[in-house]
Amino acid sequence: MKIAFVGLGNMGGGMAANLVKAGHHVRGFDLSEDALARAKEAGCETFTSVRDAVKDAEAVVSMLPNGAIVKSVYTSDVIGHTPHAATLIDCSTIDVATAREVADAAHAEGYKMVDAPVSGGIAAANGGTLTFMVGGEIHAFDAAKPVLEAMGKAVIHAGGAGAGQTAKICNNMLLAISMIGTAEAMKMAEKLGLDPQKFYEISSQSSGYCWSLNAYTPMPGVGVESPADNGYQGGFATGLMLKDLRLAMEAAETADASTPLGKRAREIYEKFAEENAGLDFSAIIKTL
Ligand code: NAD
Repeated sequence: MKIAFVGLGNMGGGMAANLVKAGHHVRGFDLSEDALARAKEAGCETFTSVRDAVKDAEAVVSMLPNGAIVKSVYTSDVIGHTPHAATLIDCSTIDVATAREVADAAHAEGYKMVDAPVSGGIAAANGGTLTFMVGGEIHAFDAAKPVLEAMGKAVIHAGGAGAGQTAKICNNMLLAISMIGTAEAMKMAEKLGLDPQKFYEISSQSSGYCWSLNAYTPMPGVGVESPADNGYQGGFATGLMLKDLRLAMEAAETADASTPLGKRAREIYEKFAEENAGLDFSAIIKTL
């Protein structure tokens, strides 16, 4: 299949390489010369504009930094410049309203489009083990699925346009809250004289069981191996968690949803990100 790929950065670079490995002809574009050079090395054909990359494409995949860029790329250079039979797949994490707006613009021109944000970081993008949460009509989901399967381990239809972004920000709001809660409980147990490893053993098999504790233990040398054991390098950066929390709080406001803990989590990560945006988000334990 001829697949145009726009946004070949930390995530997109590995994803495009996996499409090449799956036998697709990938037509890549990025504003960065370095990203283009890496994509070429990975077997992509590279172009100097989005319009050239999407010409003749049967699918377009994008992995871009934010909603404003996604909107501008699609409305200026993808919609109307890509063959109308192509499936448009935006994998970036962006706000729900923009995802719906771009999908509406694509539908108005007769395109199939899905929002398909991912769970999993750079390692999962390189390893082809991302989870995709997909919003869009079922025929668009069916068309996007084989493309996404070449880059991930799970492809889940979440609902209509914007449902993928909704799933992503609600999940990450829950993750931020549970990470802060896990960190608080571990530090409090330690301060009260309980061996943190004992606390992990007990709580990970009790009602305190959660992903942040069981699969991503935020304290070095305790529980499972995680970024905490590597100086909080790698993993999921605090700056990206803050981006998702801001998107979640914007969406909560538009939906009139009450999210007191989400709001507090955003405040806590906002303060922490001032000096630690590059550290893994579990490093929040250092503030307690
Ligand atoms: P990145 O900054 O490494 O990559 C983005 C790429 O887009 C860059 O190479 C940049 O040059 C390119 N770009 C920007 N504007 C462009 C334009 N107009 N046309 C073409 N290319 C353009 O970011 P990333 O870490 O790859 O993240 C991409 C998306 O994935 C974001 O929405 C992010 O929230 C999401 N995400 C990232 C992670 C992660 O761990 N890094 C995890 C899950 C989701």
